[in-house]
Amino acid sequence: MGQNPENAELPQLVDSHCHLDLDLFDGDREDVIARAVTAGVRALVNPGIDLAHSRSAIALARRVPGVFAAVGIHPTSSGEFAQADIDSLRTLASEQGVVAIGEIGLDYYWKDVPPARQQAAFEAQLALAAELGLPVIIHSRDANDAVAATLRAWVAGTHFRTSALARRPYAGVLHAYSGDAALAEEAYGWGFVLGLGGPVTFRNAHALQALVPVLRLDRLMLETDAPYLTPHPHRGKRNEPAYVALVCGALGQLYALPEAEVVAATTAVAATFYALQAADLQLGQPDSEKRRARDTVHESTSRNAAPIAA
Ligand SMILES: [Zn+2]
Repeated sequence: MGQNPENAELPQLVDSHCHLDLDLFDGDREDVIARAVTAGVRALVNPGIDLAHSRSAIALARRVPGVFAAVGIHPTSSGEFAQADIDSLRTLASEQGVVAIGEIGLDYYWKDVPPARQQAAFEAQLALAAELGLPVIIHSRDANDAVAATLRAWVAGTHFRTSALARRPYAGVLHAYSGDAALAEEAYGWGFVLGLGGPVTFRNAHALQALVPVLRLDRLMLETDAPYLTPHPHRGKRNEPAYVALVCGALGQLYALPEAEVVAATTAVAATFYALQAADLQLGQPDSEKRRARDTVHESTSRNAAPIAA
């Protein structure tokens, strides 16, 4: 879709949220990455769900160009949360390839972890994100009111307002957005963006599909949440990053815009959100020459070092 002769046929998609480190992908991870490249995915972000998976996300990011990691403890994994975990996350966040804190939040659908414990883990990780100047990836399931109250208080607090995070273009993303137009408006005011994935393709998702055209395209990131939330027509099977193209296609229809415009807008948001450079968008080229080129570009101010979005 771009004019670049090297990839004239390929869109420049970013899967802003997927869990490629999970063992469901152990048998064919390289094939999954290759299919993502073929579908035009140029970068993907793999959030952690606990400390072990934050480490495996970092390992994947180190091994595969175009893969980036977030570190965090998911609310459904926060049953044993202790303050010492924050020290572990702080150390992990300093690793190369870590671009966010996540995924964190509240989940009142699964009843395994009491809300008070989820809340403690959520607030401690929000504080860490502000301290480190890293944006947050928010999970909210059957908990939008409590998540909104927590984020509202967080962004109004002195710790956040005086932090490096408050000076970044975006502070966080409400991933797998399930709120209404009013919450979206409030979230934009916090410096947040929204993430949309497979559910926009579901045949019975009438309320979400009616909401989409009201949501700001310039505050939107595409995601798969693979292996979960598989888009139509693959529902019931394992999700994978290549299917972010299906999400993009559905959004093009809902916004009544050419897909290329959805690609351009959402990739610009994702690149700005995660502070990705043009040279970061080269998924699945684990060739050492390219890896070295990328590291060199990072260290210099030479060509391609400019952010791809202002
Ligand atoms: Zn997720």
